[in-house]
Amino acid sequence: MKINSWVDLHTHSTASDGTLTPRQLIDSASEAGLSGLALTDHDTGNGLVEAQKRAESIGLRFVPGIEISAEYPHPGTLHILGYFIDPLSPALGEMSRILLAGRNARNPRIVKRLNELGCPVTMEQVSEIAHRGVPEGRPVVVGRPHIAQALVEANCVATSKQAFDLYLGVTGSAYFDKERLTPRETLDCIHQSGGVAVLAHPVQLRTGNHAELQNVVGNLKDMGLDGIEAWHSDHRPPESELFLEIARRYSLVPTGGSDFHGANKPDINLGLGRNGVRVPMAVLDRLEEFWKTKAYLPKAIGKSKTESSHAE
Ligand code: AMP
Ligand code: ZN
Ligand code: FE
Ligand code: FE
Repeated sequence: MKINSWVDLHTHSTASDGTLTPRQLIDSASEAGLSGLALTDHDTGNGLVEAQKRAESIGLRFVPGIEISAEYPHPGTLHILGYFIDPLSPALGEMSRILLAGRNARNPRIVKRLNELGCPVTMEQVSEIAHRGVPEGRPVVVGRPHIAQALVEANCVATSKQAFDLYLGVTGSAYFDKERLTPRETLDCIHQSGGVAVLAHPVQLRTGNHAELQNVVGNLKDMGLDGIEAWHSDHRPPESELFLEIARRYSLVPTGGSDFHGANKPDINLGLGRNGVRVPMAVLDRLEEFWKTKAYLPKAIGKSKTESSHAE
């Protein structure tokens, strides 16, 4: 067994707004020296089967995951990661359908507003960007990073960051919110998809102080939250320490990942984030152990688990 082995538990592929296909992502993880990877695309499990197959064939430990943005007051954002979800579960399919309908209503509104502001981008261009490198007919979740790239290619902005600062971020002039699930609905859907639910990058909650942060985490824990992402590209070391302390206090499993998006976030390296922090395999071991203890959830028993060890 390798003494030092590392994992990345927060990554995006072309199934949402990353630029590597699920297969390329697994190969890149292996090339980067990682021993385990979770794919956590926004709102969809469509990349999971491809990633899982490739991971099996090259001997990389793989965790099927998802990332969902739940209702939360601005300017903060509340993202929940699901781990060990069953890609074929009906609850996951139903949740994705709802979330995609929200995006399909929002994206054209953003594009229309951009046109009114003098930026000549179209939904066709955005869609073409989102589908780059993706095999014909494969569904893709279209998000703001694709619109940002369309703005760069139309010479409306110099960089994707500028697109978010001026237009697409919550304070931007073409920002529209999308229909979201409540935190409770999100946690329930993840559990019903067979997964455990982890609060992503808690810094993005933008809570004003420790008391407020603990209040949010405590409420989520009461609704069924299982874990908290301690290591992330947006976390400085003291913040990671704080979230580890909160994990201990609320009996939450700590996790970590880079939030790799390929060329859509070029400053984030797979397995290293933008701050060089690495997540040891023991973190994944603990997460998986915890997930196994949750297998009592009636709808949580995925096909493979039912076949192998659970008779109910
Ligand atoms: P969407 O799912 O369409 O709401 O877009 C979410 C994606 O946009 C995530 O990958 C975020 O990291 C990215 N994003 C959100 N706000 C910003 C920002 N201010 N700058 C860069 N990327 C952002
Ligand atoms: Zn993203
Ligand atoms: Fe996120
Ligand atoms: Fe993410």
